[in-house]
Amino acid sequence: MSSPRLLFHCKSPDIRVGEAQLQQALVELGFIGEAIDDTSGHHYAAGERFLDLLTFLGCSPVINLSAEDGDAYCFIELLSYEQPTFLHGSQSFQPRCRHCREPIPNWRDQIQASSPITCPSCGQAMSLSEVNWKQSAGYASQFVVVHNIYLHEAVPGEKLMTRLEGLTESKPWTYFYAL
Ligand SMILES: [Zn+2]
Repeated sequence: MSSPRLLFHCKSPDIRVGEAQLQQALVELGFIGEAIDDTSGHHYAAGERFLDLLTFLGCSPVINLSAEDGDAYCFIELLSYEQPTFLHGSQSFQPRCRHCREPIPNWRDQIQASSPITCPSCGQAMSLSEVNWKQSAGYASQFVVVHNIYLHEAVPGEKLMTRLEGLTESKPWTYFYAL
């Protein structure tokens, strides 16, 4: 069973930081702590500043930070791919054209066929990184995944984003949610 996730990534899909470098930056910030003993080797416990580095949008969310607090506790996963990779959750969403802002209802068929995506309304072609995925999907070579954050429960704070952008030649980062 997959958990609700908040993912962030660099908007430039080809950029990938060394995982050790990314991990070190996140440890220095206090966003991640100890590695969690698991099979993947890319899972980390929340660090001591984790709650300060995210901005929670609701009032007083209940956030579990360790397995002792309950099953749905927050942990962080670092995902790296050799090629830009498209990730999305199982929730339904309607991406929009970045040119005419109309919805692109047949995006799933188009992704299976090929990239780029062509807007059925205005006919413009877009790369996957140019489509407005409505905070429900992302295209990148590397993702920071926060498990057990619900849709629109939290966003990455400015300090966290600034540090990440410092690792990627000041190229901006963005975020999305997956269920
Ligand atoms: Zn269009």
